[in-house]
Amino acid sequence: MTMALAENFRMNAGHGDTSYANNSRLQMAVLRKTRPFLEASIKDMFKNSDSNSALLTCLKVADLGCSSGPTASLVISEIVKIFYGICQQQHCKLPEIQAFLNDLPANDFNAIFRSVPAFCDGLKREMGADCYISGVPGSFYDGLFPSNTLQFIHSSYSLHWLSKVPENLENNRRNIYMGKTSPPNVFRAYAEQFKKDFSKFLGLRSQEMMPWGRMLLTFQGRSIADASKDIYYAWEIVKDALLDLVAEGLVKEADVDSFNLPHYVAYEGEVREIIEEEGSFAIDKLESFEIILVAPEDDEKQTRSVNTHTKSTRAVLESLLANHFGDAIMDSLFRRFAENMAVYLQHGQKPKAVSIVISLIKK
Ligand code: SAH
Repeated sequence: MTMALAENFRMNAGHGDTSYANNSRLQMAVLRKTRPFLEASIKDMFKNSDSNSALLTCLKVADLGCSSGPTASLVISEIVKIFYGICQQQHCKLPEIQAFLNDLPANDFNAIFRSVPAFCDGLKREMGADCYISGVPGSFYDGLFPSNTLQFIHSSYSLHWLSKVPENLENNRRNIYMGKTSPPNVFRAYAEQFKKDFSKFLGLRSQEMMPWGRMLLTFQGRSIADASKDIYYAWEIVKDALLDLVAEGLVKEADVDSFNLPHYVAYEGEVREIIEEEGSFAIDKLESFEIILVAPEDDEKQTRSVNTHTKSTRAVLESLLANHFGDAIMDSLFRRFAENMAVYLQHGQKPKAVSIVISLIKK
């Protein structure tokens, strides 16, 4: 990952109004949806482990791109609960659990660390679980663990972030992403960067996992193969808000031209191909699902959903945007974003988030 990106990119810290912790409802909903996949994958891993397996003494798991919201601890407690259920059924002793929480170095690890003791006490009280939690700062596009260390890797809503902005996007004028008016080379550059990054991720993780280790990955996706026909609406609305500020003279057009998001929404088939070509993992399951983000039936609800959208977009993008355009325009930018989002919803659009969930087995 490029140093500049790793140092500057983070979800909004703390617990304030525009923090990631208070604006991650979509990510929570995604975790609820993928819970059955998590359970199936862990149960299957347990079934296929032999009685001497390290799995039965100490379960080593990692959550990659954990962020600083409630989702980080939720994942760990769900994994412990699933194991607890298995052990109750099989009359075995709950293994000790070593959980690694990874994110980029600028992530608000302090917020997580402060909650760890109470969290582990809770698991001990409820299930008699001995849980040891550590933080691992670094990019998951680099090595994070010694070889042969982990049995289970989880990552939700993080792998749509690329290791860097793709190269050769100079002609992506008045766009900040694969936009409606982007030339074809832009779509190719994004797809190639994703392929490079995701393949590298798979190779690295395979090294770090024990044989037969499992991995559950969920990230944003698109519903049709042709990326130019399924433009991610939220980034279009951010781009329109930026162009409004250009028209007002608050932002230079050249600054919009030179800015591109290191983000990609992949297609199910494309992801399958990359996994097969890279070859370290067998695909247990690979599916897409949709979550409708708002139901704009009445005005009051709509105002609420405009607010929710605006705050969650700000929680995710503010660090990247402020780094390029400066802090001073952030309030105006997101005011514009809210206005444009309201218009978008008034037109009866129902924004949806497509997600891809993949259960993998190390070969
Ligand atoms: N898993 C959490 C957080 C999702 S937000 C949830 O489901 O709510 C995405 C997170 O991925 C952010 O915290 C971001 O900092 C992290 N991330 C993005 N690129 C990363 C990388 N290369 N290495 C590690 N973390 C990364």
